[in-house]
Amino acid sequence: MELLKRFKEMQMKQKAYGYVLTLAGWDSNTEAPRGAFARRAEMLGVISGELFQLNTSKEYQATVNGLFEVLSDLDDVTQREIKKAKKALDKIIKIPMDEFIEYNKLIQLSQKVWEDAKENNDFKSFKGNLEKIVEFNKKFIEYYEIDDHPYNILLDEYEDGMSMKEYDDFFNTLKTDLVPFVKEVLNNGKELNDAFITDFYPKEKQKEFADYLINVLAFNRENGLMKESVHPFTWNTHSTDVRFTTRYLEDFMFSSIFAAIHELGHATYEQQVDPKWDNTNLNGGTSMGIHESQSRFYENIIGRSLEFWEVHYPKLVEIFPKQLEKVSLDDFYRGVNKVEASFIRVEADELTYSMHIMIRYEIERMIFSNEIEVKDLPKIWNEKMVEYLGIEPKNDTEGVLQDVHWSVGMMGYFPTYALGSAYASQFYYAMKKEINIENLVKENNIKAINKWLKDKIHNFGGSKTPKELLLEVTGEEFNPKYFVKYLKEKYSKLYL
Ligand SMILES: [Zn+2]
Repeated sequence: MELLKRFKEMQMKQKAYGYVLTLAGWDSNTEAPRGAFARRAEMLGVISGELFQLNTSKEYQATVNGLFEVLSDLDDVTQREIKKAKKALDKIIKIPMDEFIEYNKLIQLSQKVWEDAKENNDFKSFKGNLEKIVEFNKKFIEYYEIDDHPYNILLDEYEDGMSMKEYDDFFNTLKTDLVPFVKEVLNNGKELNDAFITDFYPKEKQKEFADYLINVLAFNRENGLMKESVHPFTWNTHSTDVRFTTRYLEDFMFSSIFAAIHELGHATYEQQVDPKWDNTNLNGGTSMGIHESQSRFYENIIGRSLEFWEVHYPKLVEIFPKQLEKVSLDDFYRGVNKVEASFIRVEADELTYSMHIMIRYEIERMIFSNEIEVKDLPKIWNEKMVEYLGIEPKNDTEGVLQDVHWSVGMMGYFPTYALGSAYASQFYYAMKKEINIENLVKENNIKAINKWLKDKIHNFGGSKTPKELLLEVTGEEFNPKYFVKYLKEKYSKLYL
């Protein structure tokens, strides 16, 4: 079919531009000299402009819309591709060009304004920008002309098929079943032998262990690599070029270990996607939530398990004899799973993490239901911290100003973080029925676990939706009870 051939050609071009921009972005975030930033931004602006032209051109619109009209004549996979392309196209062309440009400028500026506000603990200086960002988003949602609650439209953008109905159910389950348990653990006040956590661990030695972890998790170095960045991330372009970073804090080694394992989870997912999707828009992980489920699975369920450290702790002691020689495996394991009410989301432990997300979800939900205004955020934030974690931030820097997301217009994104952990638990219990995870970890055979994930989840890339994957892999729809069960099983043993 001529139309389909044209679509494939244009998609190839989009992918080529996308590849170059991703590589340039990777370079900016890892090794590019600071002095080149202004010139780079100018050059990359030209390429992004070209890509935008391509994505919104009359010809592309006619091609996608033409194929959408004959959808039933196409095979199953192509149908999905066209539906996905149409969904993205419909949104982008409905926003007037001048408003789109104005919004993008606002976002660029707001990030800097937010950085300064955070540094100076000055919410007021950021308030105006945040109000404008919220207004833009509300306006864009109206342009889409989708008959749904505004927040549902945002939620669906980051996690296909998820709405307030599912998230309300999820967070209500956490509130009734998990919050009391978290409080019980926090009040238990068990003394830990954990001074070693903040000992001094030289960066070069930490690198050695991070490199060891790459082998343990059987990451394919032929098709990927690891570097260092301020904020760890994974960047995929296609299944044969997957790059991720970690960071090294010399007074907090856990940061590098668990960032590396977390990102290795994302990276393994990307590497194990069937290359046949590379030239389609169904390549890469299927959603933010499923992606996060994979990183959390490796980081928490495997990486923070006793079995894992039974095998790998001796190696760590070998690298850091002075710091760890007198620390028992049990103390180390407890240190790795230390629970604490804390202010900063990215530093939160596995048990209290979802409480931080719940706060952000409830706030976003109220904003897009027009129940609260931006100026009220600091107060509401602090009240919710007291309600769920029993602590009150001393200032907005450790409260409402801590995350970059809202300053760059990412609203509806946060809930996928908690969702990822919950998906991971549901997958974990399904996996347990088929393979002996604990034994495989003890045998240092992560390859077998990778294979299970590849066959059941990774292979399919974006050709299956999160809902389809959950149902096919676990035999059930999303069920937050597994997350609560997993946390209670693990942390009652550790703390109660
Ligand atoms: Zn992640």
